[in-house]
Amino acid sequence: MAAVTRTPLIAGNWKMNLDHQQAIALVQKLDWALKDAKHENGSVEVALFPPFTDLRSVQTLIAADKISFALGAQDLSVHDSGAYTGEISGQFLAKLDCRYVIIGHSERRQYHDETDAVVAAKTKAALRHGLVPVICVGETAEDLEKHGASAVPVAQLEAALEGVAPGADIVVAYEPVWAIGSGQAATPEQAQQVCAPLRAVVADKLGADAAAATRVLYGGSVGASNIAGFMREPDVDGALVGGASLKVDDFAAIIRFQKHIGV
Ligand code: PEP
Repeated sequence: MAAVTRTPLIAGNWKMNLDHQQAIALVQKLDWALKDAKHENGSVEVALFPPFTDLRSVQTLIAADKISFALGAQDLSVHDSGAYTGEISGQFLAKLDCRYVIIGHSERRQYHDETDAVVAAKTKAALRHGLVPVICVGETAEDLEKHGASAVPVAQLEAALEGVAPGADIVVAYEPVWAIGSGQAATPEQAQQVCAPLRAVVADKLGADAAAATRVLYGGSVGASNIAGFMREPDVDGALVGGASLKVDDFAAIIRFQKHIGV
């Protein structure tokens, strides 16, 4: 596999939290916190995933204040336009300068019955509109007991990438369902043991160069105190952060992981 440097990606999934006014306040505070700490912007990419109704406000603020955060959405429709009440097209997201879109989050799989086929269709819809899909995969506690850690996430990623063109620009997020919102994160070693086979799936489906360039994130109860451990692993290139991304000081500390990782 070709040797490339992958810029770490720290992504904040706000889920169904913060209205557009609260969103503006949080983005401003986060920007100030990082500036106060003299954080070096280019060393880490930061992406925010607000609710749909906040996107326009956050986009406007980021552009006006030249804040270097990337914008992403939490979901998109498999369709491009038409009679699909309540759905949001990838083309609308691209028009709002979204770079990323989360696909197949375990909460979508669990509460909205999103199957692997839907996740695959959404992955293609994102790519069709020039968005980078952040494809979430992960095993439940029951899966872990029955099949071990990597079997289910590997199968989910294989399904999501079915028919995707070689070289596609994607992000993979390994999120053990048992770790999400539980306060009980996987260990860095457990994360590495799954992220490495996930990168191998990308190599198999999209080619060695794509696999070397693809960021594989860990998600599930990431906080300021455990991020450094994950970032030391060779196949973990960042984090998808839920709860802690709503707390300015915690999220700023996660973004500044290089200060406490010893690199
Ligand atoms: C998530 O839901 O993607 C997530 C990682 O949540 P938390 O960080 O709160 O566990």
